[in-house]
Amino acid sequence: MHRKITYTFPRMGYSYAAFESFFKILGYDVMVPDPSNSKTLKEGVSNSPQGMCFPFKILLGQFAKLLKENPDKYFKIVSLESYGPCRFGYYSPLYNKILEDMGVTNFEVVNVEGIYPPWYKGVPRFIKKLVKLVGWHAPWAGVRAFVIAGWKVYAVERLERKFYHLIPREKVSGSSEKAFNRAFERIHHAPNKVKSIKKILNEELKKMDQIDHIDDVELPKVGLVGEAYMLMDYSNNLEIEKKLAYMGVDIDRSLWVTNWTLDRLLKTKQHLKHMKEVNKGYLDFFIGGDGQESIMNTILYKKKGFDGVIQVLPFGCLPETAAKQILSNVSEDYDVPVLSLSFDEQTGDAGFVTRLEAFVDMLKSRREIKSKESKAKKAESVTTR
Ligand code: SF4
Repeated sequence: MHRKITYTFPRMGYSYAAFESFFKILGYDVMVPDPSNSKTLKEGVSNSPQGMCFPFKILLGQFAKLLKENPDKYFKIVSLESYGPCRFGYYSPLYNKILEDMGVTNFEVVNVEGIYPPWYKGVPRFIKKLVKLVGWHAPWAGVRAFVIAGWKVYAVERLERKFYHLIPREKVSGSSEKAFNRAFERIHHAPNKVKSIKKILNEELKKMDQIDHIDDVELPKVGLVGEAYMLMDYSNNLEIEKKLAYMGVDIDRSLWVTNWTLDRLLKTKQHLKHMKEVNKGYLDFFIGGDGQESIMNTILYKKKGFDGVIQVLPFGCLPETAAKQILSNVSEDYDVPVLSLSFDEQTGDAGFVTRLEAFVDMLKSRREIKSKESKAKKAESVTTR
């Protein structure tokens, strides 16, 4: 029996709206896995090798649910090809092996990889993988799908950043969230035209600006570093950004789909060089995953005046575990508090919120002490003049 292909891929927070458009423009069916819940997590964990990292277990549970609930469909699971020496390289063969052992056979895994130098080899290899992923299409159709998806990712990220900026400043609690949810839905279902996406984005940003809020307020600033998939998908990290924002924190996430894609897939050489320079003396060689970025971004956050950094560390992640050790030196040398939060299937809301609150309280009292010290210094310099 011929079954129409349905594409699926990791949700990656709100960015799924863009990936969905990409495949739909090319004429394919798309189904996005639901966010994790206790049932999918249990299934992912119980079928994964014990030592495998947590993101794999999350994804396995989500894909298994989707594939089992739709036995009449044949899925192409889109997976990113390995980037360096971490467990990422095992994802595709393990999906194949484990899902088949679970009796699920209505799928194949297709890998996407970046364009790596030398270009004369990298570009043909990239095109070959792309053709394997989506088949042959007129070049303009592929370019159009890329451009629309790119604009949707950009629009969603602009709205999300605005949303986290507004939460700690809003006068009516929940008003920014309501506005963001509406804006996201409009972008998600926007007609596949750049003009329409731009128009909706501008309209929604203006509406968000009109939310009753206090702009002139000094808040503690916290940067988020860590493993990309855990950082980018709010359902994996227990909505850490939203929680911090509601605690009155100015929050900034270091990795987004746009900068990750540019750095990892298109500007690899420059990105690695920059990282090597910033991380000199700490970790100036590649260890896989996003461990090196975690060090670099912590240093950069401190240089930009942030009060603290939180590392999102999935259980079983070797690069982030290595980074955690080095971050304690960075924290001491640069005088920047760093909180490393490990996530696994046992991580629950209650203890998690308590740790965040304690960290935020500590940052607030550090700010107060620093401000008192600087006032005292100023007063001293005036009296001695
Ligand atoms: S970076 Fe860490 S969590 Fe991500 S695939 Fe590699 S080992 Fe797993």
